[in-house]
Amino acid sequence: MGLLEGKRLLVTGVLVDTSIAFHVARLAQQEGARVVLTAPGRQTRLTSAVSRRLPQEAPVVPLDVTSDEDLAALAERTREHVDGLDGVVHSIGFAPQSVMGGHFLDAAWDDVATAVHVSAYSLKALAVAAQPLLATPASVVGLTFDARYAWPVYDWMGVAKAAFESTARYLARDLGPEGVRVNLVSAGPIRTTAATHIPGFDQMEGGWSARAPLGWDSSDPEPTARAVCALLSDWFPATTGEIVHVDGGVHAMGQ
Ligand code: NAD
Repeated sequence: MGLLEGKRLLVTGVLVDTSIAFHVARLAQQEGARVVLTAPGRQTRLTSAVSRRLPQEAPVVPLDVTSDEDLAALAERTREHVDGLDGVVHSIGFAPQSVMGGHFLDAAWDDVATAVHVSAYSLKALAVAAQPLLATPASVVGLTFDARYAWPVYDWMGVAKAAFESTARYLARDLGPEGVRVNLVSAGPIRTTAATHIPGFDQMEGGWSARAPLGWDSSDPEPTARAVCALLSDWFPATTGEIVHVDGGVHAMGQ
């Protein structure tokens, strides 16, 4: 029996087949889950095409996390494919280039606000939009990049991730009584579309493998996707508000 046998999962963030979420969806299906994908309206055709590369093609529901209309329609649109949800994956991040890449001191608030809206507030927006479908128990899992530190070039996206991590803790507080766990995976650098969109991403990635006791392959999203699947499973029944590091061990080293 697979780790996620019979689970009904909503997976956001499949853009291309390098997306972390693509590998979460692939592994989840291999472990027995039924998967529904979401994509912002303008990307649904691309995500539908990528979905055909999964073990089983998954339906795609339109969802721009900044759209009140999409959020309001999410439960109804998802119900066309599954009668409930045992898990939700938040794999969404965006910041205008003007707030990353060494522009910390001169970034404009409107651009910072976009980063925080899409990358942090959206975790609450997604969880609440999916709430009418959530089973008891259910698991919400998101992806972060260790926000305890100031990284080269990450700038306001790092601040958005700090807000995201805090949002996960407050959600864990408020959804715990409903039987909903909320946890994050803090991944090391992986060469995806979002990552290579960060001006100077190689400065974040550089030396990671040498600092990681286990080594680190930034072309391999599988360890991160496996951790997401583990948190979606029944094997973390008493864990919420947690951040699991999947970074080769860099977070635990002095330098
Ligand atoms: P990706 O570019 O493949 O995925 C980012 C996704 O965000 C895309 O699917 C895009 O459609 C979605 N998105 C952007 N704006 C949206 C909106 N308004 N509404 C709905 N969806 C929207 O890149 P990825 O690296 O797989 O990113 C997934 C998550 O992993 C992000 O939260 C990212 O910050 C996090 N993460 C990535 C790394 C890395 O090095 N790649 C490391 C740690 C954490």
